[in-house]
Amino acid sequence: MKILVVNAGSSSLKYQLFDMGKGTVLAKGNCERIGIDGRITHKRPSKEDFSASPAFPDHRAAIGYVLRLLTDPTYGVIGSVGEIAAVGHRFAHGGERLRESAVLGDEELAYLESIVGLNPLHGPPAISGFKACRAEMPSVKHVGVFDTSYYSSLPDYAYIYPLPYELYEEKKIRRYGFHGTSHRYVAGKAQELLGDPNAKIVTCHLGNGASITATVNGKAVDTSMGFTPQDGVPMGTRSGALDPTVVTYIMRECGLTAEETEKLLNEKSGLLGVSGVSSDCRDVEEAAAKGNMRASLAMRILVHNVKKLIGAYYAEMNGIDALVFTAGIGENDRALRAEVCGGLSALGISVDEAVNATCPRGEICDISGKNARARTFVIPTNEEYMIARDTLALV
Ligand code: AMP
Repeated sequence: MKILVVNAGSSSLKYQLFDMGKGTVLAKGNCERIGIDGRITHKRPSKEDFSASPAFPDHRAAIGYVLRLLTDPTYGVIGSVGEIAAVGHRFAHGGERLRESAVLGDEELAYLESIVGLNPLHGPPAISGFKACRAEMPSVKHVGVFDTSYYSSLPDYAYIYPLPYELYEEKKIRRYGFHGTSHRYVAGKAQELLGDPNAKIVTCHLGNGASITATVNGKAVDTSMGFTPQDGVPMGTRSGALDPTVVTYIMRECGLTAEETEKLLNEKSGLLGVSGVSSDCRDVEEAAAKGNMRASLAMRILVHNVKKLIGAYYAEMNGIDALVFTAGIGENDRALRAEVCGGLSALGISVDEAVNATCPRGEICDISGKNARARTFVIPTNEEYMIARDTLALV
């Protein structure tokens, strides 16, 4: 069975076509600059990449082009669009109601439209991507997979903020958590590696966006991102957790509006804000290695905050059986993994430096130290595969 996975952003639409029987990716690509001009890169395993600059006035034009390409005699991988059994759509936010992956009908669409205020950046493009796909492929099932749904299992004391309770009841202000599809995937892999479905697992998704999640018995019990993806550890351009009064103080002192302040916290903070060099971890580390003190400070702040949350989740779960690193930084940055795990021997966590230093890119590695009580794994994330799997399960 072939499943198309779509991840629509404001000016982009990423896609992957899976053959679920064989567990392979037949083709994947990215439409960019939608609404501006248009560009597409299309890849197939062991075949030459295709790229072009067709006009993409909107998501509908982009998905229409993708379907023509997938069935093209030269660049295609299927004979007809009819071979696509279902489409899985990535949504960052499923609100309080969409607590698990679901077939999307008019009712679900109306609910997703009603909560765009909670998710103004990702909600509208994901909805227009879904509408475009449904218009192009009206006869197949479309499934929504929500980053927030992994967190529907959080206990109330982990998701309710200590604010006036009416703000939760009336405005739905609570911890939602994000990156759930990635955490669910790597936590599931860690359970398999441990052979223990009840394991206590801390997953560190460290990429341009970063979050940490605690999972017990296959269910998330806490996570670092909150009402928005702004909470938790520092990221490429986001601050992560702050004393909330810093925000109102900045507004008053710097004369910034709410929108300007959000921009500062979302786009000008984190690694970029502290280092003044870049939001990209590699650039910041390179600058630090050349003696740039602010770049070094930015990395130390990141390590400090990741460690702090590992300790917090150890306390919440009364132990850790596995610690997992994933996403761009977690999968590739050996030095950062070693620093995060350094000094955690009291928690039973340590890494084998030689194994950590030679973990091949894109592979699962057990980098645990010899006497460690907890396993430490590097597990490449695969959100698209998870979306395809959920889609298959629902059709
Ligand atoms: P992602 O958002 O998961 O694509 O991750 C992007 C982040 O991963 C960027 O900050 C990159 O600098 C970082 N990254 C990718 N490869 C490496 C590497 N070899 N060492 C350090 N950071 C890396």
